[in-house]
Amino acid sequence: MHILLPGPTPIPKEVEQAMLTSMSDHRGSIFPAVHDAVQTKLANLFSAPSPRHVAVLPASGTGGLEAAIQNLFTPGDHVLVVETGLFGRRFGEVAEAHGLALDRIEITWGEPFNVSRVLERLSGATYRGILVTHNETSTGVLNPVTELAQQLHHQSDRPLLVVDSISGVPSIPLSVGEDIDVIIAGSQKGFMCPPGLAMLALSGRGRESVLHKRIGRFYFDLSPYLAGHLPYTPAISLWYGLNAALTLVEREGSERRLARHTLLRDIVRAYARAGGLTPLVEERWASPTVTALRLPGTIDPSRLRHNLEQRGLQIAGALGPWHNNVIRIGHVGAVDVGDLWAGLGLLAPELPYPEKALTAALETANEKTGRLLP
Ligand SMILES: *Cc1c(COP(=O)(O)O)cnc(C)c1O
Repeated sequence: MHILLPGPTPIPKEVEQAMLTSMSDHRGSIFPAVHDAVQTKLANLFSAPSPRHVAVLPASGTGGLEAAIQNLFTPGDHVLVVETGLFGRRFGEVAEAHGLALDRIEITWGEPFNVSRVLERLSGATYRGILVTHNETSTGVLNPVTELAQQLHHQSDRPLLVVDSISGVPSIPLSVGEDIDVIIAGSQKGFMCPPGLAMLALSGRGRESVLHKRIGRFYFDLSPYLAGHLPYTPAISLWYGLNAALTLVEREGSERRLARHTLLRDIVRAYARAGGLTPLVEERWASPTVTALRLPGTIDPSRLRHNLEQRGLQIAGALGPWHNNVIRIGHVGAVDVGDLWAGLGLLAPELPYPEKALTAALETANEKTGRLLP
């Protein structure tokens, strides 16, 4: 099956192989080396102050969001949630479920948040945190998180900036540092692993803000993780996979990786436009990892996806208000131009102008890389 999904994403052979490593005692002499290697590689990837500023939990991405809320905030804390789509809304729902007092900024689907508007909402208010989405997977929008972080840096007594980058890092680089306090990531998107691990990277301030005691939290207490312990049985096989994946991530390097995803995005957009579909997000803030495309009224997204599956390709449907006439093509994680080309070839016969679509994909690849596909 070819998958062009915003998660789960294809798994490289090296990662699959590593996950077949035999079980051993996670407190024995074999596993701790993997534990240390992963903590160190993640700290480097996120530019975290030390390996003790990173926690890997057995959960899908949402578990990571919940862990961030449980560790930094108590019921009644006032936070600002910036919602640019379904996942921004979800982050707010997690906060609400924990009794936080929410203010929301709701952005029109398909648009990023505006930094000045967020800053305006902060002036005069005393929020303990701001919850934002880096790469909004439901719409395919890349939000100006780094810019917001830089602006906040100048403010004294600023709120904690907590970022859901589950479909962003490491495909789209993002670092904690002085400005971003917590980044949440998931194993099944840019990290090229199966679902099941949530990762949190914390700044110095983020780590200091972890609550020592907090009603309603037990399993996701980050304190033991941040002290270098594994309090409960880790998802051992996934750790082996993550270790191998992080080696691949380091080998490729963040610049080359972002360039690869940006190229994939540009190919998808050119292909779609020529083939009779409409990209829903303006190029200047279009995500490098997922692209939402409006279908002509004659094509039903669920029938289309069913047909494609029969031919060996899975793409994603759309959510919320875009459910009835939009598809999403994922190009996150271990997807290269060849993989994309194979998928777009399977999709082409369903489009109004299949040949134009494929020609535009070839031309774009050629223009940007000087080579023909794949
Ligand atoms: C996928 C995703 C999530 C949810 O992650 P799960 O692994 O399904 O729990 C949350 N936020 C964003 C931005 C995502 O892309």
